[in-house]
Parts: sequence; C-alpha cells; structure tokens
Amino acid sequence: MARYTGPVCRLCRREKMKLFLKGAKCDSPKCPLEQRPYPPGEHGRGRIRESEYMLQLREKQKARRIYGVLEKQFRNMFAEADRQAGITGENLMRMLELRLDNVVFRSGWGASRSQCRQFVRHGHVNVNGKRVTIPSYQVRKGDIVELREKARAFIVVAHNVDTIDRQSPPWLERAGEGMSVTVRDLPLREHIDVPVRESLIVELYSK
Ligand code: SF4
Repeated sequence: MARYTGPVCRLCRREKMKLFLKGAKCDSPKCPLEQRPYPPGEHGRGRIRESEYMLQLREKQKARRIYGVLEKQFRNMFAEADRQAGITGENLMRMLELRLDNVVFRSGWGASRSQCRQFVRHGHVNVNGKRVTIPSYQVRKGDIVELREKARAFIVVAHNVDTIDRQSPPWLERAGEGMSVTVRDLPLREHIDVPVRESLIVELYSK
C-alpha cells in the first residue's frame, strides 16, 4: 500500500500549522514550525496571492496529510462520500475518522497516525477478534478494536499509554485496561477535532 515517505515536517510548514505527524517532537521546542513558521523552499517567505482555488487546495491537502491518505485514495473516498446520503463533507470526514489506523490513534496506543498505521500493517490489531492489517479498513458501529497480546507488552505502547494524555472521543468506549475500544456510534462532525473546512474540499472536487 502506498504512503508518503518524504520528510513530514515540511508538510506542516507548507500548511503553516501543526499537523502533529511526529508524535512527541510536535509538542517539543524541536518542532521546526516553531523556528521556521513559513512554507519550505526558496520562495517560502515570498508574498503569495491567495486565490479561491489555493484555499480549497490547501484544505484538501491538509486533510490528506493529517490522515496520511494519498490523492487517488482520497478522491475515491470523496466519490464514496458523495454517493452516500447526507452532507458530503461530513460523510468524508466520518470516513476518514473511521479508518482503522485513526481509531488506533484515537485510542492513545500510538504517538502518531503513522505509528498506528505501522501497528496495523504489522498485524498487531484485531477487529472483532480477527487480525486486520489494512490501515484504511473502515470500522463500523459495534466493532471491537483491540491490540493483540504481544503488542500490549511493547515498551513503546506502554510509554505511549503512560505519557500521552489523549482523551477518547465520545464515539469510542474503552475496555480491557484501555487496550480495547468499542465503536459506540458513528462520529459526528463536532466530535472530530481536525481543523479542516471540508466544504472547501467539496467545492474543489465539484468543479
Ligand atoms: Fe509538524 Fe510535528 Fe514536525 Fe512540528 S514536529 S512540524 S508539528 S510534524
């Protein structure tokens, strides 16, 4: 499965905001955005004319980068969100939020979504008692997501659970000493604390 493997801090600098792609470093003074809060590249500090298209593009790129989704898959998700009943933008955000790697992230087991993606790819996560290794797997209402026995003993997991004070969203319910979560409900937009204006993404793809 394809994923972005380049430097991630420059993605935050491009969006001029913290996307929290690196775990602990993001909250430390080492975060490059603290020292260089302008876009990367030779013309990063130049004057940029903000067109309507640029605003729409930036929102789409921001959403993709936060959830670690490449363009083709993102576009397919948008098409699926558009087919569903309801508000397309909210459908899209809900689908992104229900990705298995994001659910693992929301559970506080991983420091970043990319680390959670690795837990899934390496087979450390069960859904309803069965191993699932697809980070984009869409969990459903009532699903039980848990870390497998071996992964519960990982030092990195223990460290994350001890040090990350991440509150589970209301649509997730913790059980099994915090190593298992149940999807109580589908997430509503107000429960998704991602700073993306999804209406601009809809406008961009509706051209
Ligand atoms: Fe973004 Fe984290 Fe890198 Fe800071 S440290 S630029 S928040 S990925």
